[in-house]
Amino acid sequence: MCPAQETLEEWQGGVTPLEVAQRRGIALELVYAQLAEALYRHETGQQAQPPDGPERKPTKAQKEAAGDFGRPVLVVAGPGTGKTRTLVLRIEYLLGRDDVRPEQLLVLTFSVEAADELRERIARRFGESVADVMEISTFHGWGYTFLHHFALEAGRPEELILLDDAAQAELVLELLASVECDAILDLRDPAETARRVAESIAFLKDRLIGPDECEQEIRAWVPGEREPDTRPQMAALLALFREYEAEKERRSAVDFGDLIMLPKRILEENAELRARVAAKHPWIMVDEYQDVSRAVAELLEQICGPDNPPWAVGDKRQAIYRFRGAHPQNVDEFEQDFPGAVRHELDVNFRSGQAIVDVANELAALLEDPDHNGPVPERWHPDRDRPPVAPPAVAIAVANSDEAEREGIAGQVEEWMRHGVEKADIAVLARRNVDVRQISLALNQLGVRALTTGLVTAEGSAGDLASVAALLDAPRAAVPRLTYALFRHEISPGALNAAIEYMLASMDRDGAFAVQPVPGADGVVERIAQLRQALNEVRFSADAWALLCTFLFDDGEYLRNLLRQSDDPGIALAIEEVVTTLSVAAAHRYSHRRSRPRRSRLGFNDRLRDMLSQAKPLLTPPPVRRDAVRVMTCHASKGLEFPYVAVAGQTFPAIIDDQSWIPPSLRPDQEEDARQADSLLFVGITRAERAVVVSHARSAGGTDRLRNQRRRPLLFERWAERSNAPRLEWDAGRAEPEIFRATGLWGGDYPELVPAYLLTGSGCAIRNYLQRTLQAEFPSAAESLWPMYVGVTRRAMQRVVREANASGQPVDLARAIGVLDEEWGDAANRKHHLIPLYRRHAERRLARLAEAYRPDAVAAEELPSEVEVAFEGNARMVRTNLLGYFRLPDGRRRAIGLEEGSLAGRVNADGQINWSDLNRGKLQWPFALLEEAGPGALEIFVYSDADGRIYPARWSKQKRSMTTARTSAQDQVGRGVSRVIESRIPEFVCVRCQHRVHCPHWIGAGEAPV
Ligand code: SF4
Repeated sequence: MCPAQETLEEWQGGVTPLEVAQRRGIALELVYAQLAEALYRHETGQQAQPPDGPERKPTKAQKEAAGDFGRPVLVVAGPGTGKTRTLVLRIEYLLGRDDVRPEQLLVLTFSVEAADELRERIARRFGESVADVMEISTFHGWGYTFLHHFALEAGRPEELILLDDAAQAELVLELLASVECDAILDLRDPAETARRVAESIAFLKDRLIGPDECEQEIRAWVPGEREPDTRPQMAALLALFREYEAEKERRSAVDFGDLIMLPKRILEENAELRARVAAKHPWIMVDEYQDVSRAVAELLEQICGPDNPPWAVGDKRQAIYRFRGAHPQNVDEFEQDFPGAVRHELDVNFRSGQAIVDVANELAALLEDPDHNGPVPERWHPDRDRPPVAPPAVAIAVANSDEAEREGIAGQVEEWMRHGVEKADIAVLARRNVDVRQISLALNQLGVRALTTGLVTAEGSAGDLASVAALLDAPRAAVPRLTYALFRHEISPGALNAAIEYMLASMDRDGAFAVQPVPGADGVVERIAQLRQALNEVRFSADAWALLCTFLFDDGEYLRNLLRQSDDPGIALAIEEVVTTLSVAAAHRYSHRRSRPRRSRLGFNDRLRDMLSQAKPLLTPPPVRRDAVRVMTCHASKGLEFPYVAVAGQTFPAIIDDQSWIPPSLRPDQEEDARQADSLLFVGITRAERAVVVSHARSAGGTDRLRNQRRRPLLFERWAERSNAPRLEWDAGRAEPEIFRATGLWGGDYPELVPAYLLTGSGCAIRNYLQRTLQAEFPSAAESLWPMYVGVTRRAMQRVVREANASGQPVDLARAIGVLDEEWGDAANRKHHLIPLYRRHAERRLARLAEAYRPDAVAAEELPSEVEVAFEGNARMVRTNLLGYFRLPDGRRRAIGLEEGSLAGRVNADGQINWSDLNRGKLQWPFALLEEAGPGALEIFVYSDADGRIYPARWSKQKRSMTTARTSAQDQVGRGVSRVIESRIPEFVCVRCQHRVHCPHWIGAGEAPV
């Protein structure tokens, strides 16, 4: 028995990790690591290594491609045509030559997984000694080694610091305070701005665009007549980009983009070095060429020359990594990049039966020409037919809801199994991670074990662990979810919510709360308090990994419960998520080994939250396990094959990010997203050997799915329209709800004095509740200064208006800043690197207002800007948050609202802002509520902070519109107080919502959906 397994068994027997460590004389951390490894093995079980099988005799085309020497070669290898077989054949040919030594071979891949798999295959085929000396690496790995050696030769022996995605965003965040970047900075969430800027920088570097090239493009750009001028945003990105590069250099750090760009530049400038590389590796092979970025293709040009031309395999139709910088056009440009190159096409499909190969041919024709209608050219033909156990070999299933689709897929899997198909021969491929989880659960409900790898979801145990990792640093956000994680199966939702409400109500700033029993929730408060105390003991020493290990292995109750039920297929999924979360924490520990534990912990919280709320697909396929059906994203299935395949979720449009800060000439082509979706379908279908079912749901719950986001029909729709494959109708008899109603929520109702922004009604009402009422912000590596900033500046601005009204004169700049100083108080002493940034913005706001606000008279009296709002027996005072509300000497009333954004484009011909152009919750509702409060006519004005101007606003001509505003405000108050919150569930907002971890919609804390 391996030590890891032994340790797990001891631990399950009740021995603590510390006791194991002491008895064996090893570090506690090592015991944790062993337990984590044993958990992984426990989940993946007895893996059945897929046999290589006898090597097929190569085809003529494979032999010709593999044996083409002395010139650049591109092998266009469609699905199932033996890409890897041909690559291995070329290695065989090379090793058979007298003039070739294995160490002269360099094989470059796109992904680490592909490099590992290839290495294993070469080891099995040619022996470990050959695999050990051949260089098989990713492009980035090769670049890192190259830079390391280059630095050594230049006399710089220090280790290169490699910034991963999280570290890149952290660096940008540090720069936000010192770089002029207001045009793109979201003060509400600077960490999100930093993350997106880091992504944009990576995007540009994948295309070999540095700050200088970026600047040239900005200078050259002239906005078209109807095009918005986004030069300020572009200039802001450029300024950050420059400073990011400079800071990186100061710290001797590199990012992933540098691992390609720097070697390319060094080689370009150094002929002698190029010659050395060519002499070292006369034989260079490249796998999956369609997945590499433009920068990689240009690096390859530098690595290769006439004496070591590249030999590459690729298929543009299978390009599914565009979101990671892939530039599939490299395949088209191969001959340009490598003059004298030849192409070989492989045309025999060794994977699929005739019907599936026919579909592959149809899809290829449609990919080439979206309107293709004539006879389909036969690009590929199967080596032999592979009929399914029961027809049809290809079917299209239409479901009436997401739920029906999941049930339909589970039913199809059962149907195949009924005909004798082994579980291990079936795979389900989905678009999104959340679908992987939901489909796995649907299979589990039928008693079919589903195996996934690398899955973390907000709904699953990764969400539970996110709340554990956050407990010390953001207790208000963590306690509700953690309580649900520990007790949801034992205690009724009502009693649980009461316990949570009690803990939140009595919680101090540090997260401590009074321990007292709550009726119906025996032991809940005590248990959470005890857990908090246990974690608190390692508060200053534990990063996320250590904290999670303390919870999982030292406390142990949560994990022991899971393991006790691990025969339950549903629980197995939860254990998988535990394993993945632990491995993410371990990776974060490694990449942040120089950080302090708390800082590293907070960074991990950001990273995990992003993983739980972003739509990025998982890339790791689950291993083969005889007793399980594999469920994975289409992305993870690349390079694999399965006898029976269900391809799900073929109606999701792309998510389009606003890229307005990237110069238009460099922005990603938005059609690319659709092309990626098309390639995913192609990849998914062509994984199947004998049968494939392709499914889609008409909508989540009955209406057409986000029609407007679709630019052109996806490949699936074009193919389905023409295909005569049999149709299956999956109807669960009910539609999935699109409106979610949460009642009896934890955390209490609206405060006595409701700020008007709670009534905005824009966006998701549940999110507003979580964010504003419960203040359940997920912890971030950077403490949010936004609430302080908003409160301080608003109060200071209100005082400036009040003072000006009292004197009838504008307030001068020095006085306005003086007011700000008084309101700012000791916030200035807080240790937070973004303080200067917020202070700078606050001063600008005050200066602009002081300049703009010129009263035309001394006000007669200031009026109370709080107004009572009642609805169905519930009443609250609403704080309208106006800049000023006062009576003029002639009896008129005047209200001045605040709008942060620009209103310049909305001024009507009379120089006013129309009622319909006012922000509903923030301005329409407060004005409408005050209008009734009389006496005296009410004049309304809006101060636009972005414009530094005060605009008169015009009441709605329609009385109904104002009544609606009042009723909506009342309705919001009623719902907030009674905690019956209804919200339309916006599919894509939900996928990306940072509140998913504790959203009642996802964790079932509220009443059943309606
Ligand atoms: S996950 Fe969806 S329902 Fe929940 S708060 Fe976010 S947007 Fe609203």
